[in-house]
Amino acid sequence: SKGFFIPRRYESTAAASDSSNVPIEKYEYQAEVSRLMDLIVNSLYSNKEVFLRELISNASDALDKLRFLSVMEPELIKDNVDLDIRIQADKDNGIITITDTGIGMTRQELIDCLGTIAQSGTAKFLKALKDSKDAGVDNNLIGQFGVGFYSAFLVADKVAVATKSPKSDKQYVWEGEANASTYTIKEETDPEKLLPRGTRITLYLKRDDKGFASPERVQNLVKNYSQFVSFPIYTWQEKG
Ligand code: ADP
Ligand code: MG
Repeated sequence: SKGFFIPRRYESTAAASDSSNVPIEKYEYQAEVSRLMDLIVNSLYSNKEVFLRELISNASDALDKLRFLSVMEPELIKDNVDLDIRIQADKDNGIITITDTGIGMTRQELIDCLGTIAQSGTAKFLKALKDSKDAGVDNNLIGQFGVGFYSAFLVADKVAVATKSPKSDKQYVWEGEANASTYTIKEETDPEKLLPRGTRITLYLKRDDKGFASPERVQNLVKNYSQFVSFPIYTWQEKG
């Protein structure tokens, strides 16, 4: 059911490659995603901290999916990597990373999952938004429906998703920015950034939201919102 939308792919240009000459491909979001992102980025929604709950819940789903699939395909977890979630808060640079060792995404899954809306919660959200004549209701709707992955843009002006599916031998990086109608995908070529399996989400926090990049704050949010996640969640602590 996710195959209904074929993203437009831009022509590669000479400039669109990084220092190691890896092509960076640019894609346009599905119109609904653009609308949703505009709404999130420009909303005055005050309960921004829900972003962490949403990203942890995706990490937990990805770990569940891996565990489930590995019953039939044990080779998916033959590498002995633990099933867990790690959150690192870099106070100095205002960066939070959330890393899971779940099922990850192939290149095509990145395009299907993080550029189009196929999931029910967000679709319901958009429908409720359409049905509501009162523009002022937007803020409540975000909390009511949850906006999944895109809630990262409540606090971040740039988001990178590095991901390695056990079904692919390559790792890819998706990058999106608030207020942009396109996102990019490139292959990861830096050996130091390769994941054994799973997904690492890097949030480059907005200037006013850099305060979220504190291990104490992260730990509190995990305690308040994610205490029933069935995988270990480690938060990185600086040694005192
Ligand atoms: P939902 O979780 O309701 O499906 P989201 O917007 O939160 O919607 O996420 C969209 C999709 O992106 C997920 O269904 C999943 O396929 C993919 N995804 C997001 N985060 C991860 C992750 N950490 N690992 C693997 N896939 C992910
Ligand atoms: Mg989700």
